[in-house]
Amino acid sequence: MDSQGFRDAAATAIDDSEFRYSLKSLLLSSTSGNFTNTNTVASYYDNLDDRNVVSTVEPGYLRKLLPSEAPVEGEAWTDIHKDIEGKILPGITHWQHPGFHAFFPCATSFPSILGELYSAALSGACFNWICSPAVTELETIVLDWLAKVLGLPECYLSTGPTRGGGVIQGSASEAVLTAMVAARDKYLRETVPLEQFPEGSEAREDAIAHKRSKMVALATTATHSSTKKASIILGVRFHTIAVHADTGYSLTGPVLAKTLAELRARGLEPFFMTATMGTTDTCAVDDFAGIVSTLKSDPVHPAGTPGELWVHIDAAYAGSALVLPSVREQVSISLIENFHSFDMNMHKWLLTNFDASCLFVRDRNWFIQALTINQAVYGNKASEGGLVTDYREWQIPLGRRFRSLKIWFVLRNYGVKGLQSYISRTLKLGEEFADSLKSRPDLFEILTGPNFALTVFRVAGKEQGKSDEELNALTKAVCEKINASGRMWVTSTVLDGRFAIRMVTSVSTTEKEHVDRAWKILVEAAEEVVKA
Ligand code: PLP
Repeated sequence: MDSQGFRDAAATAIDDSEFRYSLKSLLLSSTSGNFTNTNTVASYYDNLDDRNVVSTVEPGYLRKLLPSEAPVEGEAWTDIHKDIEGKILPGITHWQHPGFHAFFPCATSFPSILGELYSAALSGACFNWICSPAVTELETIVLDWLAKVLGLPECYLSTGPTRGGGVIQGSASEAVLTAMVAARDKYLRETVPLEQFPEGSEAREDAIAHKRSKMVALATTATHSSTKKASIILGVRFHTIAVHADTGYSLTGPVLAKTLAELRARGLEPFFMTATMGTTDTCAVDDFAGIVSTLKSDPVHPAGTPGELWVHIDAAYAGSALVLPSVREQVSISLIENFHSFDMNMHKWLLTNFDASCLFVRDRNWFIQALTINQAVYGNKASEGGLVTDYREWQIPLGRRFRSLKIWFVLRNYGVKGLQSYISRTLKLGEEFADSLKSRPDLFEILTGPNFALTVFRVAGKEQGKSDEELNALTKAVCEKINASGRMWVTSTVLDGRFAIRMVTSVSTTEKEHVDRAWKILVEAAEEVVKA
């Protein structure tokens, strides 16, 4: 859908009259009614490339522009609206800008914005089915659609053989926390037997408290920090497994086996691990086949037996690329039927605005058993009849938004083919950028990639005898110079002590001309820095 299509669709969604006129002016027009309007949503997108990518305001800029008290009398919409351009937009870093090559993208699209608009209009805290049956039922249906679009194994479908299913969470961090809560509950249920420690007994409380003090969650040095944060929140131990360049920064089966043995020798009990498809630094993929094989032959709690290690797959960014069958093959996605939960953020790369973190579980009872707390005020016939899903039992908060609507709009408006061609296009841009880097070995050295439209590189010079310290300083200087251009924004990382620039080409507005422009800025900056 282009900006004119959005104007038409949004006009249909809104209708006419005075309040509606305000909404229309916000979303659509550039000259409408009695004021000229350049800061509508549609014209924002039309002219996005004219803006600097990163906000240049000073800290505290907004306090100087706004009154210290809320207005006593309501203000006219026209006054409020003009402050978007004058006061808010200067403090916005434009994540949808075609020169945004930093972090990972934070996707959106016009159908997604329309979904958000309807969701706001139908606002409710839809925690139980009866709170709005369509909210629950659409979520179950679109997450089954999505699981199929991504080629996830059948066990992750709500209609699958293991009673799995998906739930929309606010973020990948919330998803890993939810999975870890369920994993902890499952582990305790399986390893503190009811026959020996009866429900409600003091002995059971003591056994659980002792076990909790020994339980340890695992991740690697490349895993996103959200797993560590979940461990801190839950008060369980956390262990980091070091991964390096020799394995492409991915976790292998033998390294996992050694880690499990070492932890157990210290009297600890590993119960949860995050494995990643697309790590934040380099988009590495952990070795799913090696992990499966290690866990199947685990000498203490082999996979599929009580006390098994719960494996959560964090595919926050790269999971979107599973729309392509070739990517499913490449990462052996069918193997995740051996794992327990899988999460991907449609809001990173799949054209759906924040928040849309899609968490799938192989057996929904693992969530429900861990997270159901009954309170009289939430009781209702439908829930008690056991025929409906109450998503409050699959998440940490109680209330929830109508987030499936925007996913439904995106899946319908793009179709599988549209999503595939969009992902392929952004992957190709990543390959073309990496080819450009390879064409100048005198200036640049690729450290990893391109992986999922991310290439990590630094200034070349190792062969000429430059130390890592010198190269770090040069690469940092190049990074600062290109960002100062205002035309593009990249972020950096440090890999085994080597400072590197991360270049991502997967923002939906980024076209070949923008990547070419970025390349030109980069070469000019590097030539200047190296010569200086
Ligand atoms: N996992 C990975 C691999 C990430 O790259 C990120 C953020 O970029 C996250 C998790 C955290 O995502 P969220 O902001 O949805 O919690």
